[in-house]
Amino acid sequence: MPELPEVETIKNTLEPLIKNYQILSIEVLRNATIIGDVNDFKEKLKNQKFLFLSRIGKFLIFHLSNDYIIISHLRMEGKFYFLNKDDDVGKHARVIFNLDNNKKLVFDDSRAFGLLKLSKTSEYKNDDLLKNIANEPKDIDIDKLYNLAKNSNVHIKTFLLDQSHVAGLGNIYVDETLFKSNIHPLTKAKYITKKQFEILMKNADKILTDAIKLGGSTIKSYHPSQGVDGRFQTTLKIYDKKGQLCPTCGHMIRKIKVNGRGSSFCSHCQPYVNDTYNIVIYGEVGVGKTLATDIFKEYHFDVYNADKIVLDLYKNKDVIKKINKMFNLNFANEIDKNILRTYLSNHIKDVKKLNNYIHPLVKQKCIEIMKKSTKVNNIFEIPLLYQAHMDDIFDVIILIKSKNQQQLLNQRNADTSKQLLKINSTNIIKEEDADFIINNDSDINNLKNQIKDIINKLKSRLGQ
Ligand SMILES: [Zn+2]
Repeated sequence: MPELPEVETIKNTLEPLIKNYQILSIEVLRNATIIGDVNDFKEKLKNQKFLFLSRIGKFLIFHLSNDYIIISHLRMEGKFYFLNKDDDVGKHARVIFNLDNNKKLVFDDSRAFGLLKLSKTSEYKNDDLLKNIANEPKDIDIDKLYNLAKNSNVHIKTFLLDQSHVAGLGNIYVDETLFKSNIHPLTKAKYITKKQFEILMKNADKILTDAIKLGGSTIKSYHPSQGVDGRFQTTLKIYDKKGQLCPTCGHMIRKIKVNGRGSSFCSHCQPYVNDTYNIVIYGEVGVGKTLATDIFKEYHFDVYNADKIVLDLYKNKDVIKKINKMFNLNFANEIDKNILRTYLSNHIKDVKKLNNYIHPLVKQKCIEIMKKSTKVNNIFEIPLLYQAHMDDIFDVIILIKSKNQQQLLNQRNADTSKQLLKINSTNIIKEEDADFIINNDSDINNLKNQIKDIINKLKSRLGQ
């Protein structure tokens, strides 16, 4: 979807091409692209001249000589082409304006979400499409924005995407703005201070202005008629850079979903700030994960464990049926984890097969738990965090390590340990992605102190 800088670039590119030219006729190839009466649209615009273009948020406004205007929005894939009179239009051409200079302006829209609407110069600002669009960052009233946020319960990312709060920030530029402002996308808008809003709007304006100077950033969906390309994309710092290292601190860039929108951020430069946490702890087998979660319990965290969630799944009839079928086994009322573990340690290739089936179910279960418990702190023990592709659902990632892994493992049944090590030999550890690393090398008090530190750090971020 084109963002504000693209629309501004289109405006600047298009205006000199059509300015002062007369519309001789209009061909509407898809009626639904026009909001309102199609014949009225054609009649009112015929013989009129284009005077100039303006923009409100991501709406382009074409001003005409007879006090009518056209409101347009490109939505997903809408484009304006400027062609010679006899040139073929593409198969997604929706509306054609034939001009008096042997040229034609074509509105092309493969996804057909775009729109054109006729309105009057004196009325269009109150049109349903435009009346709720707020000011752009440079003109925003910070006090008003701050007060809106105070009464809001959404995350700052969602808050800023709402065009009735501030106009012109789409997914790309919200991510860039939050990164530049050191604010985590999941921070509740109500916890953003007035000072932070000032910084956010200043940064947003700078980023948008720079993008406009460079001609917009969405290369794929944007074909301006004069070959302006999306050079700004090469200067994006955080958007869509999951797995790469943060240009500021070298921490790994993470991607999560915020209200359904993919959101890239650096959890080190943009620390998670909230009153509740969904924390995950992971690490190699036998480094003290469960011991650590027990300590979190003392701090009133609800504790969940992937292994326990799996054990529950092993009692589910559908799961039993599926696993029996997959591995030609015959569990009856419950899958015996010891039997399955022995089977897997002898059929190591089936571990992946089982994981591909079970991990999405565990992920789903964790998401359900989080949704149900929005007012409490949760800690999840997920040993295979990255294999299970679950790193994108937690607020805080803790890696636990121990130099005494073997010793801790020895306290368990030797055969079990061997099998566990074998099955878990591919465990992915990403130190550069962890928000906190616990080194469980000493005694229980040392472990408790490290955890207390983490909790205090998280708490102290609120209200700063
Ligand atoms: Zn960083």
